[in-house]
Amino acid sequence: MTRCTRCVLPDTTPKIKFDENGVCNYCHSYKKYQYKGEAALVQLLDAYRRPGSKYDCMVPISGGKDSTFTLLKMARDYGMRVLAVNYDNPYSDPLSTQNVEQAANLLNVDLIRVRLKRQGHEKSFKQLLNAWMRKPDPALIPVMCSACHLMWYHFIKIARKHDIRLLVSGNDPFEETDFKVKLVSDAVIDDVKQNFTKTIFGVIQRTARNLSYFHPRQLPMMIKGYLFGNHLAIGSRVYGRNIHKIELFSYLPWNEEEILSRISDELSWTSNAKYERTWRFDCKVTCVKDYMYMKSLGLTERDDLYAKLVREGIMKREQALQRLEKENKLYPETVQDVLTEAGMDADQFFKVFQKR
Ligand SMILES: [Zn+2]
Repeated sequence: MTRCTRCVLPDTTPKIKFDENGVCNYCHSYKKYQYKGEAALVQLLDAYRRPGSKYDCMVPISGGKDSTFTLLKMARDYGMRVLAVNYDNPYSDPLSTQNVEQAANLLNVDLIRVRLKRQGHEKSFKQLLNAWMRKPDPALIPVMCSACHLMWYHFIKIARKHDIRLLVSGNDPFEETDFKVKLVSDAVIDDVKQNFTKTIFGVIQRTARNLSYFHPRQLPMMIKGYLFGNHLAIGSRVYGRNIHKIELFSYLPWNEEEILSRISDELSWTSNAKYERTWRFDCKVTCVKDYMYMKSLGLTERDDLYAKLVREGIMKREQALQRLEKENKLYPETVQDVLTEAGMDADQFFKVFQKR
């Protein structure tokens, strides 16, 4: 496998092209991220301190490192009165659930956990992954996670109920995977909102080619999942129009060392030692996704993330290569566990990739 000589993207990345120096087209079109800065963040937070209300802001927390750090920053560093919300995903790693509860306790913030009723999440995951297996398309891998997107609907509903006007998320700007946009369209635009909309429309067009996706029970959930894909999606913007949504890491640089040391020292945060990585360890479905991307495209979302961190100068290329070597390891036994928990036939899943 050849990788870009500037970032680390492999030659199996969708629509990748290299120039005579081995530098990829993703590198050529990349624009460095402009942070808004801490002064702007402090000014904005001050404007949302509301002495008459119980909470100043809401922070969604998954138990992963970025969202835990966001909660820590808001509650401890900036003294915001926070309502923490957690989507109780049935495939959460038990340690991430422990991280959520511990962080809320130690920071003395209220926590509301949301779970879909009647095993809605499990049923949706099973049906959507089965549909994918009938006609595998790498562009549609994320569709199996539609149920998770509904959390944004629930979080906004809770924010409205408690009259909260500010939502601070721990999404980092480098997590928007460029190769996923490339799978459905030729353009990669700087604007996150535009990329998101383009990806969604591409995904809708492609799901239309596989009728197994359109199960009558799943359709309403899928549509809601599209509308509330994240906090910036159209549904979230309209339903949560009075709620200002910001991302901590569009103001402050994402510094992994600082994040990990502070959350482990101050909140006893831990990740699962079984996996030699911390990014997205909080959901076991990450192992399923990694397996699907690796077997279909020869890369994972981590290649895309680390390529961006290298271009940003946050990570050295050598370090990224070493980490990918170690962290892109597949965990078929976790895949098997998740599928068994979802009531699926794991052998049938693995067979899909043997044929390819
Ligand atoms: Zn590159």
